[in-house]
Amino acid sequence: MNTFARSFGALLVFALAAAVADAQRLPVTAVPDRYDLTFTPDLKNATFTGSETIGVRLAQPGRSIVLNAAEITFTSARVTQEDRAQEATVTLDGGKEQATLTVPTPLAAGPATIRIEYSGILNDKLRGFYLSRTRLRNYATTQLESTDARRAFPSFDEPALKAVFDISVVADKGDTAISNGRIVSDTPGPGEGKHTLKFSATKKMSTYLVALAVGDFQCNEGEEGGIPIRVCGTPDKKPLGVLALRYAKEILKYYNDYYGIKYPFEKLDILGLPDFEAGAMENTGAIFYRETLLFVDEKNSAVDSREAVYDVLAHEMAHQWFGDLVTMKWWDNIWLNEGFATWMSGKPLQALHPEWNGALGAVGATNGALVSDALLNTHPIRMKAETPDEINELFDTISYEKSAAVLRMIEAYVTPEVFRRGVNAYLRKFEYSNATAEDFWNTIAAASMRPVNQIMPTFVNQPGEPLVGIKSRCVEPPAAPAPKARKGRKPRRVIKAEPRTEITVSQQRFLVTPGPVGPGKTAAADPLWLIPVCIKPEDGKSFCQIFSRREETVRVAGCSSWVYANSNAVGYYRTKYDDAGLRSLSQAVMERLTPAERISLVNDQVALTKAGQQSIGTMLDLVVSLNHDTEFAVVDSYATALDQIGDYLIAGERRAAYQAWIRSNFRPMLAKVGWEPGPGDTDDIRQLRAMLVSLLGKVGEDPEVIGHALELARRYLKDPNALDAGLAGDVLSLAARNGDAALFEQYVSAMGSVSSPEQFYAVGGALSRFRDPKLVERVLESSVSETVRNQDAASLIASELRNRENQPVAWAWVKAHWPEVEKKITMSSGSTIVNATNRFCEADVRDDVQQFFTAHHVPSADRTLKQSVERMNTCIRFRESQQGNLAAWLKEHSGASAAAAR
Ligand SMILES: [Zn+2]
Repeated sequence: MNTFARSFGALLVFALAAAVADAQRLPVTAVPDRYDLTFTPDLKNATFTGSETIGVRLAQPGRSIVLNAAEITFTSARVTQEDRAQEATVTLDGGKEQATLTVPTPLAAGPATIRIEYSGILNDKLRGFYLSRTRLRNYATTQLESTDARRAFPSFDEPALKAVFDISVVADKGDTAISNGRIVSDTPGPGEGKHTLKFSATKKMSTYLVALAVGDFQCNEGEEGGIPIRVCGTPDKKPLGVLALRYAKEILKYYNDYYGIKYPFEKLDILGLPDFEAGAMENTGAIFYRETLLFVDEKNSAVDSREAVYDVLAHEMAHQWFGDLVTMKWWDNIWLNEGFATWMSGKPLQALHPEWNGALGAVGATNGALVSDALLNTHPIRMKAETPDEINELFDTISYEKSAAVLRMIEAYVTPEVFRRGVNAYLRKFEYSNATAEDFWNTIAAASMRPVNQIMPTFVNQPGEPLVGIKSRCVEPPAAPAPKARKGRKPRRVIKAEPRTEITVSQQRFLVTPGPVGPGKTAAADPLWLIPVCIKPEDGKSFCQIFSRREETVRVAGCSSWVYANSNAVGYYRTKYDDAGLRSLSQAVMERLTPAERISLVNDQVALTKAGQQSIGTMLDLVVSLNHDTEFAVVDSYATALDQIGDYLIAGERRAAYQAWIRSNFRPMLAKVGWEPGPGDTDDIRQLRAMLVSLLGKVGEDPEVIGHALELARRYLKDPNALDAGLAGDVLSLAARNGDAALFEQYVSAMGSVSSPEQFYAVGGALSRFRDPKLVERVLESSVSETVRNQDAASLIASELRNRENQPVAWAWVKAHWPEVEKKITMSSGSTIVNATNRFCEADVRDDVQQFFTAHHVPSADRTLKQSVERMNTCIRFRESQQGNLAAWLKEHSGASAAAAR
C-alpha cells in the first residue's frame, strides 16, 4: 500500500483502516484452498449480498470451524464433507472479529466445503466493501488491507492463509467491474437489468489482496511484454490517465528485466477511485488508487505531481512481486512488503528519469526516517503486532522509509548486482508463499558471501539509529634516529615514515531527546550496530568497513585535513565530527562533496542542532557556505529548517534581522532562475523556483515576491493553465497567507470549476494558509460538511493544525467539534490529526493535547500521540537552547543582510 496521501497540503498520511476490536489470530481449525465468491451490490441502497463457497482442509476432527467476519449478517451456513451437508449454527465474536460455524455431527480431518450466504452494507468508511460517490452516481469498491477482507466476505483473513479466488459480480446493465482476474464471461441476469461478470481464477494469494470495483469505469489500454495494462477511472478522468499508462508500461518492462521473474499475473489494471483512504493499494493485478496520485494533465502538471504518479506506480507495481507473489508470514514483518516496494520504486525512477534526481530524493527520504527514528518513541522495523489497531499503526515511516534506507545501505555494501541476484533467489524460493526477515537476509548473505545476516538484525530488530562519531588527526611520525653503524658496514639508509591519518570511529544511539540512553549508559539501553561505514578522506579514495564496537580506530595513508564519513550518502546513520574536523569539511563542502553528500551533511547538522548537540550558528554557517549551490534537493535539505526557525525561534525585533538574512541569501538565487519558466528549464530549476518563492515570500516576507505571487494567483484563478503548474501550489499558498476574505471566496469558487485533481488540491491545499480566524473556522467547518470527501477531511484539519499561525484557532475548534470530526473522518485517518499536533511548541498546549486524546481515544494512534508529545518537547527545548545562539549569529551576520533587505 502507499500511504502517501497527496491531498490538502500534501501531507504524509500514514494511517490505515483501523478497528476498535481486539482481534486475535485464528485457531488452526481449517486451512482454505479456494474461495468462490459472488457479490451482488445494490449501489442505490448501499448494500450488498454475498454468496461464498470455501474449499478447506480440516486440520483435525471436530464440530467447529473458526473464521473471520465483521459487520456481516449471515443468512445461512453449511458445511459439506463427502457429499454429506450439515447446516451450521453461527456464533459471532465481535471483539475478535470471528465467526464460529458449528455442525451437529463431527467432521473428519481432511477436505470439506463451507457454503455461506450473507449480506452487508456498502459503508462510507473507505474499508471492506464500501461506497464511493461522484455527483452523478454511486460506485462500490474494496480496500481490504490490513484486516478488512472479513468485512467483504467471511474468510480466513491472515496473510499466510493463501488461496485461489474465483470471483463473480452481479452488476447493473451498462456497468462494468474490475477485479484481480480478467473478465472471462459476461452473461445477462439474474433478474431484470442485471448482468453477471465472471473473472478468471487468481493465483494463490492472501485475502487482503482481493479486489473488486463496480461502476461505469472507462480505461486507457496498452500492453507490455504480453501483459495487457489498463488505466481506468470514472469516465471524466479518462483523458488524464494517458501519462500513467505510459509510465506503467515503462516500469513493467524495467521490473521484468530486474527481477528475472516476469510479471506473475495475467493482466494489470490500475484504477483511480473518487474515494480512497490510502494513496494506492497493490491488489494483485488490480491496483486501486486515490485519483490525485494517478490522473495528471500531461501538458501542464508540476514536476512533483508527475514524479509522485511515477513513484507510487513503481511502488505498487513492485508489490506485485514483493507482497503479492511473496508475502510476509505475519504483519510483524510488514517491512518485507513496504520497505521493499519503497526501495524498489527508486530503481526505475533513477534509471529511466535521471532528470528527477531520484538519488538525491532518496537521501531526503532516509533523513525523514532518521528524524522519526531519533525519537524515544520509535519502534523496531520488525515489531510485534496482533490486533488490527497494532497492525495498522505499523504502516509508518519506519516500515516504509527506514526499511528502504537500510536496504539501500545493504545494496551498496554488497554491490547492486550481487544484491539483485540475492533478491531474485529470495523471490524464486518463496513465490506464491510467505517469508520472514530471516528468510531474506539469509538468502542475501548466501548470495553475497558477506555477513548481511549479522548486519541486518541490528537495524531491523533494534529500535533507533546510530550516531557515528568521527575524530581524525594527521600523524607525522618523527624521523627515526639513524641506527648506529656497525663496524665494517655501511650505515643503513634512514627511511622516513609516511604521514598517516588516524580516524577514530565511535557509535552510540542518537536521540533527539536526551533520555535514559546515551553515552555511559548500559549496553542494553545503548545498543550496538554492525554498521557499514564508508569513509572518504581528502584524497578521495573512499573505503567501506563494518564497525561493530563502541570505538575503533582506522588508519589511512597520507595526511587528510578532513574526512567525510558517509561516502555516497547511503548509510543509515547520523554523523558527528569534532569541531576542527567539521570546520575543514565545511571548507571542502562545495568542491569535494557530491550533492548527495552535502545533503546528508546538512541533514545531520540540522538533527544535531535540534538535539542540542551543536549550536544553530554552525548549521547556518553551513547553509551560507552552500548558497551558490542551486541544486533543488540541496536547497530543499535546509529549507524546512529555515522555515521552522522562522516559525518557532524568532520573535520581536529579531524577526526583521532574520528575514533580512533570508532575503540577502536567496534573492540572488531567485534572480538567477527568474520568475518566468523558460523553454530550457530543467525539472530541477522548476522545482527550485517554486521553493524560492516560498522561502522568500513566507520565511523572508519579501514584499516584492508577495506582490508578484498575489498577481500570479489572480491570473491562475481566472485560468489555471495561464500559470506553470509547478509554481501554482506555492504561489496560491503565499497569496492566501497574504489574502483577504474576497480572495478566499475566489479560491472556493475556483475549486468548483478546475479540471484536474492537481488543480483542485493546489487551490484547496492553500485554503489553510488564510490567516483570518473567521476564515480558519470556515475551512474547518467545511472539513466536516458534505462538501469535503471523507478521504480528505482529516488532512484538511491537519493542515490547519500544522500551520503555526493558525494553531490556536484550529486547536480550539477541533476540541469544540470533536464529535463531528470523529463522525466524518474515516477510522484510521484520526491519527493524521494526532500527528499534526506535533507542530505545537508550548508546554500548556502539549499537556492539553495529551489530556484531550487520552480522554478521546483515537484508534491506531497510541504511538503517534507519544511521538507528538515528544516532538513538542523537542521543539520547546530547541527554542530554549538555541534562541540566544540565533540572536548572536544574526547580529554577526546583520551587516551583509541589512543592505539587501531593503
Ligand atoms: Zn506499499
